[in-house]
Amino acid sequence: MDLKDHIRSIPDFPKPGILFYDISTLLRHADAWQVAMGRMARAVRAHQPDLLAGIESRGFLVAAPLALKLGCGFVMLRKRGKLPGETIPLDYGLEYGTDRIEIQADAIERGQRVVVVDDLLATGGTMAAGIQLLRNIGAVVPAAATLIELTFLQGRSRLDVPCETLVSYD
Ligand code: 5GP
Repeated sequence: MDLKDHIRSIPDFPKPGILFYDISTLLRHADAWQVAMGRMARAVRAHQPDLLAGIESRGFLVAAPLALKLGCGFVMLRKRGKLPGETIPLDYGLEYGTDRIEIQADAIERGQRVVVVDDLLATGGTMAAGIQLLRNIGAVVPAAATLIELTFLQGRSRLDVPCETLVSYD
């Protein structure tokens, strides 16, 4: 099955000039979503994760079912102020300004293997921040994984771990 048949591109979202790859059409197609999760599971299993970390918010949609399939735990990397209890933040640069992601301070045990999961790799800034935050709290990060890669933005070159992807656009 070609998963591209189930991913829609929408021009001028969220801003004029941006072509947005929409995974809603993949999520609502039961067979295609099963196939996508099966392929992701095979690729990610090889990195022997103890946990998957999903990046808010579409990363959760990928990471949580994948963790269930792999029989490992799931932790959330969330935007500012969303997580209860003690949290550890990481600020990272955007094209204009900065953003912050946070993780609960007790989310992982030192030395646990955590694969970071999102829906899409563009410039790689979000994924690089996720990896850094996990390392800051003592995780070993053997790999990253996304459904989609926009290869022309060369996000992969900002990562020092392999990134498993199912579909790429150039
Ligand atoms: P990056 O930090 O790699 O430039 O951007 C990746 C982040 O932006 C991901 O969290 C992803 O959800 C979001 N993103 C950027 N462009 C798209 C897009 O075209 N489609 C989707 N689904 N997400 C996008």
